[in-house]
Amino acid sequence: MSVWAIVLAAGSGSRFGGSIPKQYEALAGRRVIDWSIDAARAAADGVVLVVGADRVQDAEPSADVVVAGGAARSDSVRAGLAALPDDVDVVVVHDGARPLATPALYAAAIAAIREGADGAIPGIEVTDTIKRVADGVVVETPDRATLVAVQTPQAFSRDALLAAHASGGEATDDAALVEAGGGRVVVVPGELTNFKITRRDDLERAEQILNESPNVA
Ligand code: C5P
Repeated sequence: MSVWAIVLAAGSGSRFGGSIPKQYEALAGRRVIDWSIDAARAAADGVVLVVGADRVQDAEPSADVVVAGGAARSDSVRAGLAALPDDVDVVVVHDGARPLATPALYAAAIAAIREGADGAIPGIEVTDTIKRVADGVVVETPDRATLVAVQTPQAFSRDALLAAHASGGEATDDAALVEAGGGRVVVVPGELTNFKITRRDDLERAEQILNESPNVA
């Protein structure tokens, strides 16, 4: 089975601020996405890197293919899907802004697809109680034991992911589109260190983790 990764780096990172998107910030001597691409490379046969249209000409020697993303995350995933070679069976979608995902996490998600799932996503147990809120008023308190916080890399059978994206829908992760189409998405244990760089102190935390344990990714 041929496995390719799509690493997403076309977001503008508006919550992060600063003059460059967060995935291009320096982290332990390299860019955030260099860490992300390396873990993807170690786990997959090839890597498609999806970047902003203004960066599509930039040299990215660690990626096999570089394509321009779109306005929403799902548009960027579709751009990556369109660039995959024909013989790919398993696709792993990863946020470029998660530099500390390990090759072992990729392997666990990919193994679940080989075993027959349509999708496999890393999940972390939720320690806070989560409320559904509308206009500042709580409308529901889901049972915490049934919730997980979801990360990437998310692995899919290529056919399931293509079908999920065929309608051009939008979601904050790909699994939501596969689930909506009736696909079977399983959860593998996520990694606490695999947080998404979202605010500036996340970058400091990632730097500290890499300095303390350089082999984490
Ligand atoms: O915005 P958010 O942090 O959820 O983005 C998750 C990942 O998706 C980031 O790596 C970001 O660069 C990427 N993204 C993208 N194209 C977009 C929006 C986000 O590739 N239009």
